Amino acid sequence: MPKKQAPAAKHAEPSVKLSTRGAARLHARHPWVYRSDIVGANDIPPGALVRVHDERGKFLGTALYSSSSQIAIRMISHGSVTDLPALVAERILAAIAYRKDLVANTDAYRIVFSEADFLPGLIIDRYNDVISAQILTQAMDAEPVREAIVQTLREELQPLGIVERVDARIRELEQLPARQSALLWGDKSSTEISMNGVRFYYDGLEGQKTGAFLDQRENYAAAAQYAHGEALDAFCYQGGFALHLAAKCPAVTGVDSSRPALEMADKNAALNATPNGREVEWIEANAFDLLRDYAAANRHYDTIVLDPPAFAKSKRDLEKALGGYKELNLRAMKMLRPGGILVTCSCSFHVSPHDFLKVVADAAQDAHKSLRVLENRGAAKDHPILLNVPETSYLQCLILSVTN
Ligand code: SAH
Repeated sequence: MPKKQAPAAKHAEPSVKLSTRGAARLHARHPWVYRSDIVGANDIPPGALVRVHDERGKFLGTALYSSSSQIAIRMISHGSVTDLPALVAERILAAIAYRKDLVANTDAYRIVFSEADFLPGLIIDRYNDVISAQILTQAMDAEPVREAIVQTLREELQPLGIVERVDARIRELEQLPARQSALLWGDKSSTEISMNGVRFYYDGLEGQKTGAFLDQRENYAAAAQYAHGEALDAFCYQGGFALHLAAKCPAVTGVDSSRPALEMADKNAALNATPNGREVEWIEANAFDLLRDYAAANRHYDTIVLDPPAFAKSKRDLEKALGGYKELNLRAMKMLRPGGILVTCSCSFHVSPHDFLKVVADAAQDAHKSLRVLENRGAAKDHPILLNVPETSYLQCLILSVTN
């Protein structure tokens, strides 16, 4: 009998073997595995799809590989995946469908939120007829994946422009070639959006993050529900809270240290101006100094919003960050009249909901005030929190009322 011919040696597919700890993370439904938990790997190109196995060789699923990040793999499926562009397209459609019944009163919302939409390293926001995409990992940066992203968004949402916003630091960390923020498709990169009936300009190639703080959208509406009297929006950026408060409050002041942000805030105010409406006052200042000076000068407010930038960018900063939150909240509480409303936020992932509540409570103690929690909120629903992936939960927004 002729001998069966041995099959031609197949090109080995990229694969990794995980330590028990690495495999346990995946079993716990967290998609990240650190390089230190990879105990075996063949030659894997940057950004490749890799087959993932446990130490005994059991197949656990498919992941995206990064040759530079400490997070060496991010799971994309518990099954076998060979066509990443097709999977990305399918997941984008699923993310759009998920939001269909969740998002209301706006034409600006997050379409894809990275791990929370099972698309690690991809963030996509919709601003009316302009879409903004951010690509944060080697795998998502591959040309066929980029093409799939643009084509899916074009077909499904028919925008007039798709812009890419580049985070230069992340591209450097991921060892990706430098790029400029630019239009990926179409010819429109700026537009007007509306959130809860309040209008804003959006420029896809300017501003922070992807241009606006969409995660606060539902909190704007909640804050406006309780706001009254004289209002102060500290860290106002382009006026997100301030312009929502302006619909309810006879006097609103917005404070930010960024002049370009305030210039945009003023344009946004004009966009919403009513014939007899009052103007919002914008002050360029360090909010810490301003709150200290105003508190010392015995100024009072009925509504104060505190939405500072993330104070704790890493775990190491936690103590200092808590000190910052306490100081701000203490000053604000001192200035609030009885019945006043404090809207206080933290967007530091490293400050847990428990830590934040505690630090605000400590501030109340030092301010000799009693406050009630009206609402304990997080990011808007288009920024889903994936249970078992704590990194997807970062924003907290407490709405408190001062009883005395
Ligand atoms: N509330 C805003 C988002 C605030 S982001 C919104 O909903 O759109 C944080 C803002 O704080 C940024 O605009 C930044 O310019 C500003 N900022 C940072 N440090 C500051 C400081 N020390 N004093 C005042 N503003 C500051």
